[in-house]
Amino acid sequence: MNLLDTFFTALYTIPLEQAALWSLLGNIVMFAFALLLGELLVHAFHDRANSPPPEPLTRQEVLLALICVLLNTLVAIIGLVLWRANIIVLRPNGDVLATLLDVAVLILLMDFGMYVFHRAAHHPLLYPIIHRTHHLYENPRPLTLFVLNPFEVLGFGALLIVVILVAQSSQLAILIYLAFNLIFGLVGHLGVEPAPGAWLRLPLVRTISTSTFHAEHHHDKGHNFGFYTVLWDRLFGTLSPQYQQDFTRATDQSG
Ligand SMILES: [Zn+2]
Ligand SMILES: [Zn+2]
Repeated sequence: MNLLDTFFTALYTIPLEQAALWSLLGNIVMFAFALLLGELLVHAFHDRANSPPPEPLTRQEVLLALICVLLNTLVAIIGLVLWRANIIVLRPNGDVLATLLDVAVLILLMDFGMYVFHRAAHHPLLYPIIHRTHHLYENPRPLTLFVLNPFEVLGFGALLIVVILVAQSSQLAILIYLAFNLIFGLVGHLGVEPAPGAWLRLPLVRTISTSTFHAEHHHDKGHNFGFYTVLWDRLFGTLSPQYQQDFTRATDQSG
């Protein structure tokens, strides 16, 4: 039995309180890792700013981020309970190709779902209740990724659980997706652009979102609702007309 199988067998069989504690620990480690990596990237690419520097850190920001970590843990526990009750059925881990396919399906389904929910969250009726909180911090820092209204955190968790239910992804694919989601969320809130200047000139690659893409959304709430790709914004006509220009401005500063 390999390490991954051992890990998932343990998650399936240990008492639920223990599994919940491990989920909490995992979420705290991911949070700390994201903040650390984020600060390293901000430092490394400080001459490629795509946003003005963030306002001084407030207690409310920190509190909201900590609540987000706790709610993410709650979502993980709910997922765990559904999996242990055989309501969520996960495919066995297959070969590399099967895993990559599983990850691609998760990314595309989540990208579309999040685009739809994000646009809905900007509707005047929903915006003040679920999404304004995140937009209080328009010049992002790595922590901003976690500064969300609790309803929004739970909404993302519910969407992820539904997508996993439908896609019946493998265990490994879910872990890879979660890492991918963390990195993309983080990059979108760096305030600097790590992507090479040629990014938007490369076919296919330019479909993958960049830090500038989400930074633009923080400065212009009518555009760029997508997360991992610019596909849906292109398709539905909500891609910022300034994207190319803002990206070039951010990546050209360093010469
Ligand atoms: Zn928004
Ligand atoms: Zn954001």
